[in-house]
Order: sequence, then C-alpha cells, then structure tokens
Amino acid sequence: MSGKRSIIVIGAGICGLSSAIWLRRAGHEVTLIDKDGPAAGASYGNAGLLAQWAMIPVNTPGIGKTGLKYMLDRNAPLFMQWRYFPKLIPWLLKFMSYASDAGVRRTVDALMPMLGDSVEQHQALTRGTPAAHWIETSDFTYAYANRAAFDAESYGWAIRSDAGYPPEIIDGAAVREAEPMAGPNINMLARIKGHGHITNPGAYCEALADVLAAEGGVFRRATVQDFEMSDGRITSVITNQGPMPCDHAVLAAGIWSKELTTKLGLKVALETERGYHLHLKNPSQMPRTPMMMVKGKFGVNPMETGLRCAGTVELGSHKAPPSKAPIELIRKNIKWAFPNLTYDEAEEWMGMRPSTPDSLPLVGEIGQTGIYAAFGHQHVGLTAGPKTGRWIADLISGKRPNVDLSPYDANRFT
Ligand SMILES: Cc1cc2nc3c(=O)[nH]c(=O)nc-3n(C[C@H](O)[C@H](O)[C@H](O)COP(=O)(O)OP(=O)(O)OC[C@H]3O[C@@H](n4cnc5c(N)ncnc54)[C@H](O)[C@@H]3O)c2cc1C
Repeated sequence: MSGKRSIIVIGAGICGLSSAIWLRRAGHEVTLIDKDGPAAGASYGNAGLLAQWAMIPVNTPGIGKTGLKYMLDRNAPLFMQWRYFPKLIPWLLKFMSYASDAGVRRTVDALMPMLGDSVEQHQALTRGTPAAHWIETSDFTYAYANRAAFDAESYGWAIRSDAGYPPEIIDGAAVREAEPMAGPNINMLARIKGHGHITNPGAYCEALADVLAAEGGVFRRATVQDFEMSDGRITSVITNQGPMPCDHAVLAAGIWSKELTTKLGLKVALETERGYHLHLKNPSQMPRTPMMMVKGKFGVNPMETGLRCAGTVELGSHKAPPSKAPIELIRKNIKWAFPNLTYDEAEEWMGMRPSTPDSLPLVGEIGQTGIYAAFGHQHVGLTAGPKTGRWIADLISGKRPNVDLSPYDANRFT
C-alpha cells in the first residue's frame, strides 16, 4: 500500500459496497454515501444469480433481426419505450457495432476473469461475517420447451462449453425427475455445475453495509451532486449536505453514474436495460436449482422469502416509471412453465441495469482525476461486484491487479 487515503465511495449497491469493504481492508479511511440505500438500485431486486456462466453478451450476431422481431411481438421479453427511442439511437448503433463473432469473443474474453470465480469472491468478501449467510452454492439449470429451442442457442452453448461449462442434457421423462416443478411445456433441461446464488440480495447488501461499519468504515445517507477539483484532481465530493473532502472518490452509482460523469465533462455511453421481478410469497413449490426460463428470459431463484422470477429487458429512460407489460409477461410465463404453482401474493419491482454498448463495465481511474469508475455492469453486477471492489482497492492502493484491465478502461468512450 502506498499510504492511507481518505476515500468516498458513491453508491451503496453491490459494486460500491464491495469497493468500500476492500478499500477499508486495505487500510484506507472510507465513507460510503448513498442517496437512499443500501441497495436502493438494481442490487435490491435482481435475480440473485452468481452467473459465472453469463459471459455472453446480449448483442450476439443476428441480434438486429431478432431484436426487431422481439420488439414487435408482445409475447417476447424485449420491450422498447418508443418515446425514448430517438435518444437511444447513438447507444444502439454502438451496441449493434459489437454484434459480430469477433465482438462477442472480445467481450467473453474480457468478462471471464471478472465472472469466473464469483462464488469464491463473494465468499472472500463475507468470510467470518454475518453476510455469508445469504450465499449458497448450487448447480444452474436452463429450462427449454424442446430440443429445437436448445439448438437455437447452440452458438452460446459452444462458447460456454469452451469456457468450462458444458451442459448436462436432461430430456424426456427425466425432466420431471430432475425438476418436479417443471410443467408439461418444459421438455428439456441443460444443467451446469458449480455455481451459486444469493438468497436475498437486498438483505445481503444491508448486511454488507454492516460489515463495512463493523470494520471501521462509515455509511452516510446523502445525495452526491458534483465534484470539487483543484488542478484537475478531486478535493471534495459535493453533496446535498455540503462538501465532503477526500483524496479519492469511487463512482459506483449504477445507472445514475451517467449524470455524475457529465459533471466531469464526460459523455459516457451508458443506458439502462430496465428489468423486472415478481417475487412470489409462500409459493407451493420451489425449484431444486436456480433456473433460467429461456422462453421469457427470466431467472427463477428459490429465495429465503419466496420464489423470485426476475428478468426481461425494456430499453427506455431511467427516469420513467415502471411499465405494466413486462411484469404481465413474466406472470404469464410463470403460469406457462409451472402450471401447478400457487402463491399468496407477488411483489412487483423494476430495476435498472447500467449497460454500455460493448457490455463491459468501466473500472479504473477517470483521466487523472483521482476519481475511479466502478459502474456499467449490465446483467452481471451482482456476480462481478466483489471482484470489481478488489480491483478498485488494488488500483487506489497502488497495486497492479494481475489481470489486463484495458478492456474496462474508464476513458474508452471519451
Ligand atoms: C431484473 C434484473 C435481474 C438481474 N439479475 C442479476 C443476476 O441474477 N445476477 C447478476 O449478477 N446481476 C443481475 N442483475 C444486474 C445487477 O443487478 C446490476 O448489474 C447491479 O446490481 C448493479 O450494481 P451497482 O452497484 O452498479 O448499482 P446499483 O445497485 O443500481 O446501486 C447504485 C446506488 O447508487 C445510489 N446513487 C445513485 N445516485 C446517487 C447519488 N447522486 N448520490 C448518492 N447515491 C446515489 C443509488 O441509490 C443506488 O443505491 C439484474 C438486474 C435486473 C434489473
């Protein structure tokens, strides 16, 4: 370590919490600030999957055609807020420019070191603390209507298999033996081994905030509005409660990082893929492993307080209220997949994945400002948060993480 620093971490989602804890463990003075949290953003209601297998971006070859078809089909899990479409065009064009085999392979290579040991990273973050309670190891199951639906995803399965996650195929009568909850519309399962899940993401983040406090960090509720700079370097974070002096700041405010980077004169290509959950209370059945319901594109995770079904993508403004259609589609697909499932009530939630066109987060110093980016983790922020936090702590402490961080360069869009 090159000296004790005073550091403000902005945003108490999984990325900010992990950064704050690892920075504190590296010996720094750490204050974590959130306007509403902990876990007031996407980290509250996600599917809870430690998705080590999720290294394949959404923008695979052919996404242009499929995406358009999906957007015009009310039963497809991709929605567009058309009034926002004109603002989205620059991001969409960049997003489409990566939809080639070379673009996918580049993203996969870059994401693997960030995702591949997620379960161990969560365990290391929480070892010996009460927060460890919410981490479970598990296999993971993709549920398909039939073999044709599985074959349609052969491109992704070839990449996953090469990455060390070949599927065990379960079909015919064995499907219901392996997963008794699956209804007659599910006729094939692809199971991968050695993954994990969080059994209550919101409570997990609350517990991580307690870990930070127990280890000597400070949590404050305040809204960050701007940065005070001297000779191009940060001296204070300006909040609605006044300026807070610091040597460094970590910007981990999820989708809201977009506004804060404009204060630094940057225009980061960050948009949100809005997603939804239905959290079913007192369900009559639970799956044996967490699952991905491929028709409908939502995760199904047995949690401590019920069954969470979370997913879909809605492209739109992060300032607009939730829509009804994505929630109704999840509800319909739950019925389709699990016709015998009953439950008392369902919590409805919308969250915002912070997404870049190349599907890679921004991790590292913004210019030479002393402000470090830790945002843009799209569909895999829960999985990648603890590793991101370690890298941020290493960078600020003057250590070089043993990994090529250039794909995550925080300055690549400027
Ligand atoms: C439906 C859905 C399902 C998902 N499922 C999974 C999954 O199974 N596995 C997975 O790995 N990922 C999943 N994700 C993605 C994951 O949830 C996100 O990538 C991750 O939570 C992003 O974390 P974050 O810390 O960057 O941001 P957030 O969790 O959004 O946190 C940002 C925080 O910053 C605070 N903040 C914002 N502005 C300010 C300000 N000006 N001042 C102070 N504080 C501020 C907010 O209050 C918030 O608490 C899912 C997402 C969705 C929407």
